[in-house]
Amino acid sequence: MNPLQHYTHPVNPAVSKENSLVIPRNPRSESNINRGSGNAGTSTAGETTLQRLVEKSKQNTLGSACLVEEVKCPPGVDESEWLASKIVEIFDELNLLAGCIQHLCTCKTCPKMTAGANFEWLWSASANVEPVCLPAPEYFKTCLVWADDKINDTQLFPIDPHVAFPAAFKKNVSVLFKRFFRLYAHVYYHHFQELVESEAAGHLNYNFKHFLYVGLEFGVLQEDQKEMEPLREMVSGFIQERGRILGTTRAEGT
Ligand SMILES: [Zn+2]
Repeated sequence: MNPLQHYTHPVNPAVSKENSLVIPRNPRSESNINRGSGNAGTSTAGETTLQRLVEKSKQNTLGSACLVEEVKCPPGVDESEWLASKIVEIFDELNLLAGCIQHLCTCKTCPKMTAGANFEWLWSASANVEPVCLPAPEYFKTCLVWADDKINDTQLFPIDPHVAFPAAFKKNVSVLFKRFFRLYAHVYYHHFQELVESEAAGHLNYNFKHFLYVGLEFGVLQEDQKEMEPLREMVSGFIQERGRILGTTRAEGT
Protein backbone atom coordinates (compact mmCIF):
# COMPACT_ATOMS: atom_id res chain seq x y z
CA MET A 1 0.00 0.00 0.00
CA ASN A 2 1.27 3.43 -0.84
CA PRO A 3 0.77 5.73 2.15
CA LEU A 4 0.56 8.71 -0.20
CA GLN A 5 -2.72 7.36 -1.53
CA HIS A 6 -4.21 7.97 1.88
CA TYR A 7 -2.53 11.26 2.62
CA THR A 8 -4.77 13.65 4.47
CA HIS A 9 -4.24 17.27 5.33
CA PRO A 10 -1.99 17.66 8.36
CA VAL A 11 -3.58 18.56 11.61
CA ASN A 12 -2.16 20.13 14.70
CA PRO A 13 -1.92 17.32 17.22
CA ALA A 14 -2.08 19.46 20.36
CA VAL A 15 -2.56 16.19 22.11
CA SER A 16 -2.64 15.23 25.72
CA LYS A 17 0.12 13.00 27.02
CA GLU A 18 -2.38 11.13 29.10
CA ASN A 19 -2.29 7.42 28.29
CA SER A 20 0.88 7.76 26.25
CA LEU A 21 3.93 5.75 27.20
CA VAL A 22 5.47 8.57 29.21
CA ILE A 23 4.51 10.83 32.07
CA PRO A 24 6.07 14.15 33.19
CA ARG A 25 9.51 13.90 34.75
CA ASN A 26 12.11 16.57 34.16
CA PRO A 27 12.74 20.05 32.76
CA ARG A 28 14.03 18.98 29.36
CA SER A 29 11.72 16.26 28.15
CA GLU A 30 9.07 16.43 30.84
CA SER A 31 8.72 12.75 30.30
CA ASN A 32 9.32 9.42 31.90
CA ILE A 33 9.28 6.17 30.02
CA ASN A 34 7.56 3.13 31.38
CA ARG A 35 10.63 0.93 31.54
CA GLY A 36 8.86 -2.22 32.66
CA SER A 37 8.88 -5.40 30.62
CA GLY A 38 6.15 -6.43 28.22
CA ASN A 39 3.60 -4.20 26.60
CA ALA A 40 3.50 -0.70 27.94
CA GLY A 41 -0.25 -0.66 28.37
CA THR A 42 -3.49 -2.44 27.85
CA SER A 43 -5.66 -2.55 24.77
CA THR A 44 -8.18 -0.34 26.48
CA ALA A 45 -5.54 2.28 27.20
CA GLY A 46 -4.34 2.17 23.61
CA GLU A 47 -7.81 2.55 22.19
CA THR A 48 -8.58 5.40 24.57
CA THR A 49 -5.41 7.15 23.51
CA LEU A 50 -6.29 6.64 19.87
CA GLN A 51 -9.73 8.08 20.37
CA ARG A 52 -8.27 11.04 22.20
CA LEU A 53 -5.84 11.49 19.36
CA VAL A 54 -8.64 11.55 16.80
CA GLU A 55 -10.71 14.01 18.78
CA LYS A 56 -7.81 16.36 19.35
CA SER A 57 -6.75 16.10 15.73
CA LYS A 58 -10.15 17.36 14.59
CA GLN A 59 -10.02 20.41 16.81
CA ASN A 60 -7.10 22.25 15.27
CA THR A 61 -5.61 22.45 11.83
CA LEU A 62 -2.25 23.75 10.77
CA GLY A 63 -1.24 23.74 7.13
CA SER A 64 2.08 22.64 5.73
CA ALA A 65 3.11 26.24 5.02
CA CYS A 66 2.67 27.10 8.69
CA LEU A 67 4.57 24.00 9.70
CA VAL A 68 7.53 24.83 7.45
CA GLU A 69 7.73 28.27 9.04
CA GLU A 70 7.07 27.02 12.54
CA VAL A 71 10.17 24.82 12.64
CA LYS A 72 12.53 27.68 11.74
CA CYS A 73 14.69 29.06 14.51
CA PRO A 74 13.35 32.51 15.49
CA PRO A 75 15.80 35.44 15.32
CA GLY A 76 17.86 35.81 18.46
CA VAL A 77 17.27 32.27 19.65
CA ASP A 78 20.20 29.90 20.01
CA GLU A 79 19.88 27.34 17.22
CA SER A 80 20.95 24.38 19.32
CA GLU A 81 18.53 25.31 22.07
CA TRP A 82 15.75 25.63 19.51
CA LEU A 83 16.64 22.31 17.89
CA ALA A 84 16.67 20.67 21.32
CA SER A 85 13.16 21.97 21.97
CA LYS A 86 12.01 20.58 18.60
CA ILE A 87 13.52 17.19 19.42
CA VAL A 88 11.56 17.09 22.65
CA GLU A 89 8.38 17.84 20.66
CA ILE A 90 9.21 15.08 18.17
CA PHE A 91 9.97 12.68 20.99
CA ASP A 92 6.64 13.46 22.65
CA GLU A 93 4.81 12.94 19.35
CA LEU A 94 6.46 9.57 18.81
CA ASN A 95 5.76 8.62 22.37
CA LEU A 96 2.09 9.38 21.96
CA LEU A 97 2.04 7.50 18.67
CA ALA A 98 3.58 4.47 20.38
CA GLY A 99 0.89 4.67 23.01
CA CYS A 100 -1.94 4.81 20.51
CA ILE A 101 -0.74 1.81 18.47
CA GLN A 102 0.16 -0.40 21.40
CA HIS A 103 -3.00 -2.46 20.95
CA LEU A 104 -2.18 -2.88 17.24
CA CYS A 105 1.57 -3.46 17.40
CA THR A 106 2.30 -6.49 19.55
CA CYS A 107 5.01 -9.14 19.71
CA LYS A 108 2.56 -11.43 17.92
CA THR A 109 1.57 -9.08 15.09
CA CYS A 110 5.06 -7.61 14.66
CA PRO A 111 7.72 -10.11 15.83
CA LYS A 112 10.44 -8.13 14.07
CA MET A 113 11.18 -4.45 13.56
CA THR A 114 10.45 -4.16 9.88
CA ALA A 115 9.13 -1.83 7.21
CA GLY A 116 7.54 -4.20 4.74
CA ALA A 117 9.35 -7.26 3.49
CA ASN A 118 12.53 -5.48 2.42
CA PHE A 119 13.61 -3.56 5.50
CA GLU A 120 14.45 -4.95 8.90
CA TRP A 121 16.36 -3.33 11.73
CA LEU A 122 18.17 -4.86 14.68
CA TRP A 123 18.67 -2.94 17.90
CA SER A 124 22.23 -1.99 18.66
CA ALA A 125 22.73 -0.86 22.24
CA SER A 126 26.26 0.30 21.53
CA ALA A 127 29.12 -0.17 19.11
CA ASN A 128 30.58 -2.95 21.28
CA VAL A 129 27.40 -4.95 21.65
CA GLU A 130 26.07 -7.40 19.09
CA PRO A 131 22.82 -6.06 17.55
CA VAL A 132 19.74 -8.01 18.57
CA CYS A 133 16.43 -8.75 16.90
CA LEU A 134 13.55 -7.23 18.86
CA PRO A 135 9.80 -7.41 18.26
CA ALA A 136 8.61 -4.06 16.96
CA PRO A 137 6.90 -2.97 20.21
CA GLU A 138 10.07 -3.80 22.14
CA TYR A 139 12.14 -1.89 19.60
CA PHE A 140 9.79 1.08 20.05
CA LYS A 141 10.10 1.02 23.81
CA THR A 142 13.86 0.41 23.78
CA CYS A 143 14.35 3.25 21.29
CA LEU A 144 12.21 5.68 23.29
CA VAL A 145 13.98 4.80 26.54
CA TRP A 146 17.32 5.24 24.79
CA ALA A 147 16.22 8.59 23.34
CA ASP A 148 14.85 9.73 26.69
CA ASP A 149 18.22 8.97 28.27
CA LYS A 150 20.00 10.96 25.56
CA ILE A 151 17.66 13.94 25.84
CA ASN A 152 18.07 13.98 29.61
CA ASP A 153 21.85 13.65 29.51
CA THR A 154 22.91 17.20 30.31
CA GLN A 155 26.29 16.52 28.73
CA LEU A 156 24.51 16.07 25.40
CA PHE A 157 21.51 18.35 25.99
CA PRO A 158 22.61 20.98 28.53
CA ILE A 159 19.78 22.74 30.33
CA ASP A 160 21.95 25.41 31.95
CA PRO A 161 21.89 28.44 29.62
CA HIS A 162 25.52 29.14 30.56
CA VAL A 163 26.65 25.70 29.35
CA ALA A 164 27.31 25.39 25.62
CA PHE A 165 25.96 22.52 23.57
CA PRO A 166 28.69 20.01 22.62
CA ALA A 167 30.43 20.38 19.28
CA ALA A 168 29.02 17.02 18.19
CA PHE A 169 25.45 18.04 19.05
CA LYS A 170 24.07 17.80 15.52
CA LYS A 171 25.94 14.56 14.89
CA ASN A 172 24.32 13.08 17.98
CA VAL A 173 20.93 14.39 16.91
CA SER A 174 21.29 12.82 13.47
CA VAL A 175 21.58 9.40 15.15
CA LEU A 176 18.37 10.11 17.06
CA PHE A 177 16.66 11.06 13.81
CA LYS A 178 17.88 7.94 12.03
CA ARG A 179 16.30 5.73 14.66
CA PHE A 180 13.16 7.84 14.95
CA PHE A 181 12.68 7.43 11.21
CA ARG A 182 12.50 3.65 11.63
CA LEU A 183 9.61 4.02 14.06
CA TYR A 184 7.66 6.06 11.54
CA ALA A 185 8.54 3.63 8.74
CA HIS A 186 7.21 0.69 10.73
CA VAL A 187 3.94 2.46 11.49
CA TYR A 188 3.42 3.53 7.88
CA TYR A 189 4.07 0.05 6.52
CA HIS A 190 2.29 -2.03 9.13
CA HIS A 191 -0.34 0.09 10.89
CA PHE A 192 -1.25 2.90 8.53
CA GLN A 193 -4.49 1.35 7.31
CA GLU A 194 -5.68 0.89 10.88
CA LEU A 195 -4.92 4.54 11.59
CA VAL A 196 -6.78 5.55 8.41
CA GLU A 197 -9.80 3.60 9.59
CA SER A 198 -9.52 5.33 12.97
CA GLU A 199 -9.23 8.75 11.30
CA ALA A 200 -5.83 9.23 12.96
CA ALA A 201 -3.78 9.11 9.75
CA GLY A 202 -3.78 12.90 9.48
CA HIS A 203 -2.13 13.09 12.86
CA LEU A 204 0.53 10.60 11.80
CA ASN A 205 1.21 12.56 8.61
CA TYR A 206 1.41 15.81 10.54
CA ASN A 207 3.92 14.35 12.99
CA PHE A 208 6.01 12.78 10.26
CA LYS A 209 6.13 16.05 8.34
CA HIS A 210 7.12 17.86 11.53
CA PHE A 211 9.92 15.34 12.03
CA LEU A 212 11.02 15.61 8.40
CA TYR A 213 10.91 19.40 8.21
CA VAL A 214 12.88 19.83 11.44
CA GLY A 215 15.46 17.33 10.21
CA LEU A 216 15.88 19.08 6.88
CA GLU A 217 15.82 22.59 8.35
CA PHE A 218 18.75 21.83 10.65
CA GLY A 219 20.65 19.43 8.41
CA VAL A 220 20.26 16.38 10.61
CA LEU A 221 18.38 14.64 7.81
CA GLN A 222 19.54 14.74 4.21
CA GLU A 223 17.13 14.67 1.28
CA ASP A 224 18.95 11.74 -0.34
CA GLN A 225 19.72 9.89 2.89
CA LYS A 226 19.69 6.17 2.19
CA GLU A 227 18.08 5.40 5.54
CA MET A 228 14.90 7.08 4.28
CA GLU A 229 14.60 4.60 1.42
CA PRO A 230 11.61 2.69 2.91
CA LEU A 231 9.46 5.81 2.62
CA ARG A 232 11.26 7.34 -0.35
CA GLU A 233 8.20 8.12 -2.45
CA MET A 234 6.34 9.81 0.37
CA VAL A 235 9.45 11.62 1.62
CA SER A 236 10.09 12.95 -1.88
CA GLY A 237 6.52 14.25 -2.05
CA PHE A 238 6.84 16.04 1.28
CA ILE A 239 10.26 17.44 0.33
CA GLN A 240 8.83 18.81 -2.93
CA GLU A 241 5.97 20.36 -1.01
CA ARG A 242 8.44 21.96 1.40
CA GLY A 243 10.49 23.21 -1.54
CA ARG A 244 7.44 24.87 -3.11
CA ILE A 245 6.58 26.52 0.19
CA LEU A 246 10.12 27.80 0.60
CA GLY A 247 10.17 28.89 -3.06
CA THR A 248 13.27 26.87 -3.76
CA THR A 249 11.86 24.85 -6.64
CA ARG A 250 11.91 26.40 -10.07
CA ALA A 251 8.28 25.76 -10.87
CA GLU A 252 5.25 23.97 -9.57
CA GLY A 253 5.60 20.26 -9.93
CA THR A 254 9.34 20.21 -10.53
ZN1 LIG B 1 3.87 -3.13 14.57
